[in-house]
Formats: sequence, structure tokens, C-alpha cells
Amino acid sequence: MHPFSYTRVSDTGEALNAGHRGGRYIAGGTTLVDLMRETVERPEILVDISSLPLDEVSVTERGGLRIGALVTMAEAAAHAKVRTLFPVISEALELSASAQLRNMATIGGNIMQRTRCTYFRDVTADCNKREPGSGCAAREGFNRTHAILGTSDHCVATHPSDVAVAFAALEGTVHLLGPDGEREVPFVDFLLRPDNTPQREHALERGELITAVEIPAYPRPLKSGYLKVRDRQSYEFALTSAAVALHVRGGVIREALVAAGGVGTVPWKLPAVERHLIGERPSESLWAAAAARAAEGARPLKHNRFKAELLERTVERQLRIVGGTK
Ligand code: SF4
Repeated sequence: MHPFSYTRVSDTGEALNAGHRGGRYIAGGTTLVDLMRETVERPEILVDISSLPLDEVSVTERGGLRIGALVTMAEAAAHAKVRTLFPVISEALELSASAQLRNMATIGGNIMQRTRCTYFRDVTADCNKREPGSGCAAREGFNRTHAILGTSDHCVATHPSDVAVAFAALEGTVHLLGPDGEREVPFVDFLLRPDNTPQREHALERGELITAVEIPAYPRPLKSGYLKVRDRQSYEFALTSAAVALHVRGGVIREALVAAGGVGTVPWKLPAVERHLIGERPSESLWAAAAARAAEGARPLKHNRFKAELLERTVERQLRIVGGTK
């Protein structure tokens, strides 16, 4: 591990000053410390923000939900309002990582976690994300777990977060605080596709801090849930996943919110699936026809061709579970 300095801040002003001077924010540390041990990350200054007052879950005036960036995954998953209003968030969190990690890791850190591409974590391998211009070992290497959507010639790594898939489906907003004040970024624009610059992974400017994620209010009832398909039943990343929320009134689907994980370089919103559902009556044939659009535009690699069909099946199954037909 490379030498670094450590400072603990107690208010956001202090944090922003340290961040603006090049400090790297750390809270739970469950990703960053691993990467520092592997020398993938070499921050010179760590700024511990875990004491900042960003650890509340609240219902907004409009009836949406605001989750502070320092709420732990376990706290968010167990929160009564999260469970009642948006079970898809609780389920995505509970299917992530391990109990020990969920007790330490924060919502902000979960969004910011970096890819689990094994070549990214092997400092002897070519990796454009870690070392721009060096190449991408995964393209011709073992790429079974890599992305089929949103890829570029420069990077094909998936984003590993589950709860980010739920936030994308629910069209959340990321609240940021920086030297120039507060701003909001739609969740689907916050995490960046690799394109020509895979080392740029998010919309944060230098020194900016994530303060919260906000989920808008939706008409009720809104049924929702998260399905994760993986090689083993616990402590594993998604091969495919589906976050689904449906509002059905008068027997007709009025609102459909769908996103996929494990397949995209970012959490992958599925607007074609959503459009296929809205205005229709729930039925087995509807779920199948809508899910058939989930992998549109997919560009599978040598070892992950199975993911396109698996994604369609995952989405269809979760539509059936949430939509209620058997
Ligand atoms: Fe690096 Fe991305 Fe290629 Fe993995 S897929 S080796 S993270 S450039």
C-alpha cells in the first residue's frame, strides 16, 4: 500500500475544502481500502466523511424518499419507509454483498464502487480504466461476466451495484454539494458509459460530495421488487438482474419502471420494455413480449453470449412476480 495521509472532518465545509485540495472521500471504506491494498488506487490524502450529518432517511414533502449518502446499506434496507414505499430498494440492498459489508458500506459509496473486472484489479494487466491508453485485456480475455450493453472498444466492464439498478429504474436524482453550492443530477446521467474515456466513471466535479439520493413520488399503489441471477446464492455479483415497479389502476398498467443490472456498463434503464407495458393489461403474453425487448442493442462478447437470453428471462420473470399473474 502506498503512503497516504488521513484526516477526519466533522462538517461539510471542512470536507469540501479538503476535497477541493485533492483529498479522496472515504466513509465505510469497503471498496476503497481493498483497491488501495491492491495498489489499484493510490490516493495521497484520505478525507474521512463518516461523521457528517448525511445519515438520515426521510419522506419528502411530495411523498418521495430521500436517502442520505452516509446511510449504511443495512440501515436503508431495514428502514420502514424504504420497505413500505420502495421494496425494490430494500431487496436490491439485501441481495448485495455480505451482512458485514452491508453494516459498513454506505449508499454513496455503493453508487461509487468500482468495477469488479478482474483485469482492472490486476495491476499487471492492460486496462484502459486503470491506465488510460494501455488497452483492454477483457475484450480478448475471459469476459463471461462482462457487459453486453453500453460497451465501447475501450471498456466492457459492468457496474457492480444492485441498488443503483433500483435507483435507475425509479428515476432517482443524485444530490451533490460542491464549492459552488448544491446541484442535482438525474441518476441515469450520474454514472457514465465508458465511450473513449473509461477512466471517467461519474459526473462528480473535483471536490464534490454526494449528499443524498432522492426517489420521486409515484401514484400508489406501486408494486416493486428486485430479482438477481448469479452463479451462487449469496455474496456474488449479478450475471443479470431486474428492478421492476408497476402501478396498475383499473386493470391497466399506468406506470412501468424497469432497469437491468449485470449487463450494462452502467445500470441499464429499459425504456423500450416500459413503453411496451404502459396502457396494457397485465398478462403472461404481455410480460413475454415486453421482456423480449430487454436486450435490444446488445453486443455480446465471446464468453457472455448467454446474457442476452438470460436478461430477457430475468425481466420476464420479475414482471410476472411484480405484476401478479401466474
Ligand atoms: Fe479495464 Fe474495462 Fe477492460 Fe476491464 S473491461 S480490463 S475495466 S478497460
